[in-house]
Amino acid sequence: MPRVQVVENVMKANDQIAAQNRRFLDEKKVLAVNLMASPGAGKTSFVMRTIETVRDHMRVAAVEGDTASQVDADRVATAGVPVIQINTGGGCRLDANMVRPALEQLPLDEIDLLLIENVGNLVCPAGLALGEHLNVVISSLPEGDDKPYKYPGIFMAVDAVVINKIDLLPYLEFDVAAFRELVAGLNPKARIFEVSCKTGAGLDQWVEWLIGLHPGIKAHG
Ligand code: MG
Repeated sequence: MPRVQVVENVMKANDQIAAQNRRFLDEKKVLAVNLMASPGAGKTSFVMRTIETVRDHMRVAAVEGDTASQVDADRVATAGVPVIQINTGGGCRLDANMVRPALEQLPLDEIDLLLIENVGNLVCPAGLALGEHLNVVISSLPEGDDKPYKYPGIFMAVDAVVINKIDLLPYLEFDVAAFRELVAGLNPKARIFEVSCKTGAGLDQWVEWLIGLHPGIKAHG
């Protein structure tokens, strides 16, 4: 079998499992968000801030993807929400088959929002479905404003772009307008949020957007 065919079959199998995951999440009325970013962009801090900002409105759980270790899951667990660590054993992204057992283990009947932190890089995770409703890329100021140029695939595949560490703007050469223009050129429909996980700035707008997209939050017990 030619290699291209093999790759297509693997993608197809993943998409089928992703569709099952998605149906399961829909049944449980859980909004699932796939968070992607480079290492150090602040994914875990963003998960923590999102939990803190949204917790009066939505019950949250998290899945933490990493190549090794469970430091992120340990950190998120301190927020008092259910969290499952998935180690990919060196793999550069989560896939639908890895996420599936996590969905079975989480108490999804009591959850409104599932935050899935993907493995840190801007190449592999792009466009591989997990069963999520929303794809989000976080880009932070220290990485520079040229990331949409260098990694267009991921910026084209998302519903929202989060510009993190906005509090560093006075100290760095990051042209927010130019960055926004690049994103708009690649993906005019993508929402853009400017946030600081250090100060909490901009988190309210992000969380309002999530609440607005939830298909009917379940009655809290
Ligand atoms: Mg992390």
